[in-house]
Amino acid sequence: MSASALIAVLKGLLDQRGLLTEPADLEPYGHDWRGLFSGRPLCVALPRTVEEVSAVVLACSAAGHAVVPHGGNTGLSGGATPDDSGRQVVLSLSRMAAIRKIDVYGETMEVEAGCILQTAQEAAQAQGLLLPITLAAEGSARIGGILSTNAGGSNVLRYGMARSRVLGLEVVTADGAIVRGLRHLRKDNAGYDWKQWFIGSEGTLGIVTCAVLQLAPMPRHRVTAMLAVPDADAALKVLRAARQAIGDTLNAFELMSGAALELVSRHQQLRLPLAHSPWFVLIEAGSSLPGLRDAAEALLAEVLERGEASDGVVAESERQEAELWALRESITEAESKQGRSVKHDVSVPIPEIPAFLAAADEAVGRAFPGTRINAFGHVGDGNIHYNLIVPDGADGSALNAVVHDLVMVHGGSISAEHGVGQYRVGELLRCKASPEIVLANRVKRALDPAGLFNPGKVLPAL
Ligand SMILES: Cc1cc2nc3c(=O)[nH]c(=O)nc-3n(C[C@H](O)[C@H](O)[C@H](O)COP(=O)(O)OP(=O)(O)OC[C@H]3O[C@@H](n4cnc5c(N)ncnc54)[C@H](O)[C@@H]3O)c2cc1C
Repeated sequence: MSASALIAVLKGLLDQRGLLTEPADLEPYGHDWRGLFSGRPLCVALPRTVEEVSAVVLACSAAGHAVVPHGGNTGLSGGATPDDSGRQVVLSLSRMAAIRKIDVYGETMEVEAGCILQTAQEAAQAQGLLLPITLAAEGSARIGGILSTNAGGSNVLRYGMARSRVLGLEVVTADGAIVRGLRHLRKDNAGYDWKQWFIGSEGTLGIVTCAVLQLAPMPRHRVTAMLAVPDADAALKVLRAARQAIGDTLNAFELMSGAALELVSRHQQLRLPLAHSPWFVLIEAGSSLPGLRDAAEALLAEVLERGEASDGVVAESERQEAELWALRESITEAESKQGRSVKHDVSVPIPEIPAFLAAADEAVGRAFPGTRINAFGHVGDGNIHYNLIVPDGADGSALNAVVHDLVMVHGGSISAEHGVGQYRVGELLRCKASPEIVLANRVKRALDPAGLFNPGKVLPAL
């Protein structure tokens, strides 16, 4: 079927606002958030119901045109960007954004894939509940994108990755079937847990249309503190002390290098509450019981006494809490103002963090003089954003290889939370054991034999 015939079919399936074909309307769907990838969609389909999603998938399949699922376009690996063939159909879930139900007894939410994460968080909060997925892109990222990338964020330490919040899922598969698994059950061992195949598969196996998410009680007391620590070893000692003292309340334990915060104060005009230090940690804890603040202050006194931290501050108000988090969340923007950066979103087992950082700093310094290291991350999860600000003309692939080889030496992963998309396919094939790649290809062929969904993302196109 020709492209124009497919467009005519899609127009017949969708309402007046359901199909974009004008170049100006297609433009925002043709590039990713970082501006690394660009492509040319044939058109953008905007269905309103799961039945319409199914009909679009069937029409594209019959016409032999690939489908690229699209959420809030905040992904950092180019997964939602079509190629430049002008043949791929972008399928945006943005018009399927309803919050269908919140169950305050079971603490669950049934929410359509196009709902913006922040809207879902606010709806939970209005019922005194917490949707514990939080990341700096929450004002734009959509539930379908969040689940399809198995997003992490800053409170994985306590609540797990997005995957761990999903009780039920509805998907449309490559044969157009609607698989309705919107169960509100914590316990369900009746056969394969097939929803896990789609979560984190970055739109390569099926279209997520709706989900049932497990909410959590909203902690009534919160403490946020920032500590200066001499090195990464000391940061791990503070983490251990915090786990022992207030471990069940720890939401976040973030590591930031002094160099990263220096960029923040230079480019974002934000003031650091502590004197310069090689490293800092940001800790957040929450509890419904009183006494958390006293316990956190005792922890601070203990680690200062032992010399594991050299200085520290506990936020006295919500405004101060926000100011401390602003430092952490401004690092990426400050980095982009400093110059071109080559980013690595890696994880290693927590005890390996100091050795990995030392080895990577040494290897990068030796092989690429003039590179500025900007390291920070969710250290309580073993996840380091090991970003390198590089001189013009630096070879990004060579830098990737140096860093990722060390990640493998230390038993880590080359993508902790940002996925593979089209950005890391080559590095995935290079770094992952071949039986794992063979298994992944088998799953892809079983669920999407014609390679309809997101070809060339996560794995090479079939
Ligand atoms: C400032 C900033 C901070 C960030 N911080 C974090 C962080 O802390 N942790 C983290 O994990 N990520 C982070 N990210 C990355 C990003 O926010 C997440 O990957 C997010 O989950 C993407 O959601 P989205 O709706 O924007 O998806 P998109 O970018 O639109 O799509 C992402 C992938 O999911 C697929 N997809 C989208 N919707 C569907 C669907 N309904 N069905 C099937 N496939 C679908 C797409 O094809 C693509 O492969 C950050 C991004 C930014 C810009």
